[in-house]
Amino acid sequence: MEERRGTTKRQTWISTGRGPILISGPCSAETEEQTLETSKRLAATGKVDFIRAGIWKPRTRPGSFEGVGEKGLPWMQKVKEETGLPVTIEVAKAEHVELSLKHGIDMLWIGARTTVNPFAVQEIADALKGVDIPVLIKNPINADLALWIGSTERLIQSGLKRVGAIHRGFSNLGERKYRNRPQWQLAIAYRDAMPEIPLINDPSHICGKRELLLHISQKAMDLDFDGLMLESHIDPDNAWSDSAQQVTPESLNALIESIVVREPQFSDNADHRVLDQLREKINHIDDELFNLLHNRMQVARDIGAFKKANNITILQKARWNKILEKGKKYAHLHGLSELFIQNYLRAVHDESITQQEHVMNEE
Ligand code: PEP
Ligand code: MN
Repeated sequence: MEERRGTTKRQTWISTGRGPILISGPCSAETEEQTLETSKRLAATGKVDFIRAGIWKPRTRPGSFEGVGEKGLPWMQKVKEETGLPVTIEVAKAEHVELSLKHGIDMLWIGARTTVNPFAVQEIADALKGVDIPVLIKNPINADLALWIGSTERLIQSGLKRVGAIHRGFSNLGERKYRNRPQWQLAIAYRDAMPEIPLINDPSHICGKRELLLHISQKAMDLDFDGLMLESHIDPDNAWSDSAQQVTPESLNALIESIVVREPQFSDNADHRVLDQLREKINHIDDELFNLLHNRMQVARDIGAFKKANNITILQKARWNKILEKGKKYAHLHGLSELFIQNYLRAVHDESITQQEHVMNEE
């Protein structure tokens, strides 16, 4: 694989040389028959590189199906024998690691609920000392980049040579569209911090419903992810866990066929000049925006001086609400997302407040 950023090369251990890798299988292994049948139908598509299944399921509330446990491990061995594909399961503690190794599991992953706990990740890392097996680490359920990076470092420090990461989105109570908000900028920041680590996207747990899978899968490909992990089940509606987001092996095949995989690098015959000109336009617009921001902050400082002279607070709630309302209208009128305009205005407002604080507090 080619060099991508700076001088650090992305590791190629996960690459098959046939494009992005695909990990698929049921959310949970439920019965031997369901696990085998799903896997065989996935293998028949010729597009799957690893079969996944959850054996121990970390569930949000007690009483939900918590996985079949150890008895599912021989089923995974059978999947491997009958499909010829390597298999991967989730581990959450040292005992899971030991049992997985005993049953010839080819790759392990650490789930989002485990990544949040440094004790658990360290326990897994310690259990893997001296073992040569690939391990993928999902992002933690909360949007904490340092925690994701730290967990990856724990695995690398234990001596593992093949470590990868999975972006599965972040829990957010205000989120309505996705089960877990993608927050792509965090995946991009993870990649910048850990440029050598292969990064897979998990559209299933981001979306929570099958209708959104194609859109997220395509976006992951356009952001140059190394592969996808997608849940699949022979009877999705009756799955014992995550039923709304699973698809049949045949639907998975159709979904993968609809994804367009583009090249991360220019081919020799692409006309670079067109892109160069467009980028030049963007640079020019950015320069203008920076100048305008500079002017805006100067006015904010003048207002700061006025507030100081008249002894009134920096924050004027009614005025701020008006600015937000105007921003919302502007967003609708110009086809921009309300969230984007809100985030932009909040960032600008924060900086105005900081600037006014300086004015208020200087002699
Ligand atoms: C899973 O992959 O089935 C799973 C439990 O995912 P996550 O850890 O992302 O919630
Ligand atoms: Mn699942």
